[in-house]
Amino acid sequence: MERDNVCWGRIKIPYFYEHSKRKLLAITVHPDLTVEVRAPLDTPLEAIRQRVVKRGPWIQKAWREFELYLPKQPPRRYINGETHRYLGRQYRLRADRGKGNSVKCLRGFFLVTTTSEPNPGQVQALMEDWYRCHAYHVFHERLAECCKVISLEGIKKPPITIRKMKTRWGSCSSKGRVTLNLELIKASKECIDYVILHELCHLKVPSHGPKFWRLMAKLMPDYEERRRRLNLFADV
Ligand SMILES: [Zn+2]
Repeated sequence: MERDNVCWGRIKIPYFYEHSKRKLLAITVHPDLTVEVRAPLDTPLEAIRQRVVKRGPWIQKAWREFELYLPKQPPRRYINGETHRYLGRQYRLRADRGKGNSVKCLRGFFLVTTTSEPNPGQVQALMEDWYRCHAYHVFHERLAECCKVISLEGIKKPPITIRKMKTRWGSCSSKGRVTLNLELIKASKECIDYVILHELCHLKVPSHGPKFWRLMAKLMPDYEERRRRLNLFADV
């Protein structure tokens, strides 16, 4: 695959392309927001570029639909030396035998203590409890902050649920309950606020239409940058 990019208005569209034995040019947007073009063998680059620009509105729409898609995480083994994240920072795991079962996050380390020789399953369970507990506090704190911003829009503070989700950072039910992915505690507070505010805006505007994005831009002018960082989460 070759790499190129075009500009559609002020928006830069990076994409990958490949020539193959096919009759028609096809453009695909993947859930991780990458754009892929497969073109017939004799298609000049200029023609590919024109097609990508022409499909700009459609690419934008697909990007928005994959909006809060959770990138695939590298598998974790819960062994010493491995890095784990909390609020956008990386910490190195150090598990040791000690007096009690505990998890501490300090000076660049996740220090996990277990009463018997630590094994990955036990370390994982302790760390998940720790994440869950911190997620509860941080998400409620960020929700309270975001609610200050939305109160002028007539949006009320919703109940929230925190749970592990495989494909999304967050969601909003038709009854107005907001669900946040436990994994989000690994992202920075700026990114957490983006997900929370995004779901809060859905309480007023359910779909991802222009009205929704106007509201987002008004309440969080740098939302596109935060979203970009959230989407890069898995590669950092
Ligand atoms: Zn949404």
